[in-house]
Amino acid sequence: MSKLAVVPGSFDPITNGHLDIITRAAKVFEQVNVVIMNNSAKNSLFTVEERKALIEEATKKHSNVKVESSDGLMIDYAEKVGAVAVVRGLRAVTDFEYEMQITSMNRVLDENIETFFIMTKNQYSFLSSSIVKEVAKYGGNISELVPSVVEQALREKFAR
Ligand code: ADP
Repeated sequence: MSKLAVVPGSFDPITNGHLDIITRAAKVFEQVNVVIMNNSAKNSLFTVEERKALIEEATKKHSNVKVESSDGLMIDYAEKVGAVAVVRGLRAVTDFEYEMQITSMNRVLDENIETFFIMTKNQYSFLSSSIVKEVAKYGGNISELVPSVVEQALREKFAR
């Protein structure tokens, strides 16, 4: 059985921090499915289709990375695709409590799917999609923080 990992998130939009986690997961697992969780409670800037296209462009050189989206529970998606693992990124202790809660709940739902954490590179430890959107909104330079295709997409969003 090929070892498939799921990397779930909102990716609104994908940042270099996300990309770092996806790239490192793709070195360890045979197949990585990035899954955009379509959580209606969150107000998103990009549609699911736009987010998917941006992630596909940013990860196109990794042949074992696939991008999908899901409306339901992440663990249901992971079961459906036959994943052995879920990979999440950890930035700081502030992420820890939230991640621990989610991981514990996912273990209750399916104890066979392991969650792995990859610690972010230092230069991305402050980076989030929200902070990137905030900086982009006021015309700040985000070229070091996001893939160029995302920089362009943000510029277009905020030019309107
Ligand atoms: P969610 O709404 O599920 O937290 P995000 O799109 O914000 O979705 O994040 C998806 C995953 O990427 C999470 O595991 C998050 O911790 C991780 N992540 C976000 N930003 C970074 C970063 N700068 N470095 C490493 N991991 C990150």
